[in-house]
Amino acid sequence: MLLISCPNCGPRDETEFHYGGQAHVAYPENPNDLTDREWAEYLFYRENTKGSFAERWVHSTGCRQWFNMLRDTVTYDIQSIYAMGQPRPDGQPRPDGGAKPDTQAGLAPGAATTGATAPTSSEGV
Ligand SMILES: [Zn+2]
Repeated sequence: MLLISCPNCGPRDETEFHYGGQAHVAYPENPNDLTDREWAEYLFYRENTKGSFAERWVHSTGCRQWFNMLRDTVTYDIQSIYAMGQPRPDGQPRPDGGAKPDTQAGLAPGAATTGATAPTSSEGV
């Protein structure tokens, strides 16, 4: 069980909050210019970070305000809680690098560091 410090209400039990997914996913500047794949990547593709991860939370049974949390996905250690619109306090870049959507080609930043690539069709059959 996590004890989450709401910026408005103070420490509260995890059950009062709802997870809102990855933080800092910028809406595309020109959504009409996106291909179907780019739009799908914006909607559905998220990082699967092992370690420090920026995520959105809402205090749904309290003040009903959204905020960002920097949390370690391995240890569940809450490293920082900060307001929506604020940059990551650890200085890590946004997942999209703050770049235009057309510069995101397939893999999320950091995915290539593990040697992971797109699934191949060489298996099965
Ligand atoms: Zn609250």
